[in-house]
Amino acid sequence: MNYLRVGKIDVYLLEDASFRLDGGAMFGVVPKVIWRRLSDADEMNRIPLLVRPMLLRADGKWILVETGMDDKQGEKHRKIYGITAAGKMLSQLAELGLEPKDIDVVVNTHLHFDHAGMNTISRDGSIVPMFTNAQYLVQKQELYDAQHPHERNKASYLPENIAPIAEAGLFVEIEGEAEIAEGVKLLPLPGHTLGQQGVVIESEGQTAVYTADMVPTLEHVPLPYIMAYDLYPVTTLEARKEHYQRWLEKGALLITPHDPLNPLGRIAHGERGYYAEAVRL
Ligand SMILES: [Zn+2]
Repeated sequence: MNYLRVGKIDVYLLEDASFRLDGGAMFGVVPKVIWRRLSDADEMNRIPLLVRPMLLRADGKWILVETGMDDKQGEKHRKIYGITAAGKMLSQLAELGLEPKDIDVVVNTHLHFDHAGMNTISRDGSIVPMFTNAQYLVQKQELYDAQHPHERNKASYLPENIAPIAEAGLFVEIEGEAEIAEGVKLLPLPGHTLGQQGVVIESEGQTAVYTADMVPTLEHVPLPYIMAYDLYPVTTLEARKEHYQRWLEKGALLITPHDPLNPLGRIAHGERGYYAEAVRL
């Protein structure tokens, strides 16, 4: 687990499951002759990824951004995605002296299983909320889409991660930007899904951004490096163009949800456009 301070706010970069996704799908229109230099594919063409939730201490509240992956789906699911160490994040919370009931706010950037997997837990044969005292903040559009999936997105929206939270009345639907603690703001980042949101931390002149899947790893910062998983890739492009330059000018730290190597980076700009520089902690 990595720790940094952004102004007055404590930021813990957690690690949950390792998993693998098809490299071609991860890099979209970028051909393998190019992306294979960035990431090693296995014999099934899958590249290694990590699930990196983020924990914040702000305004006296524990805010958990993303809930990692869970094991509820069993062996077949685990094999397809090469999932290991699902739920590892819980032991990192325990290292901080935290149990799930201590989390005050959960931010669901979106409701795909690799981001909202431990929204719930299987207990005594039923699936129940994991963070029982938390409000789960999600964009209204995202919750609607997750509850009305279609053929193109339903493999990502697993009802067991969503329905028990809705039934328990723990979702708080957000529309657009929202300040959820002093210096912590939710920011819509549509494209991967229409209702995806990121988190911007701004305190005492310092800025950090949790990008959600708008930028899944630092290798994805270049503008055309957009996942084939994105439902609206051109919207992803527009969202990047709307925010990148400001984040670059502010020297914002970039926290991506799936980078297997570098938890932290910064946007840079050169002859071939935007790219990322890793930041060592
Ligand atoms: Zn993802």
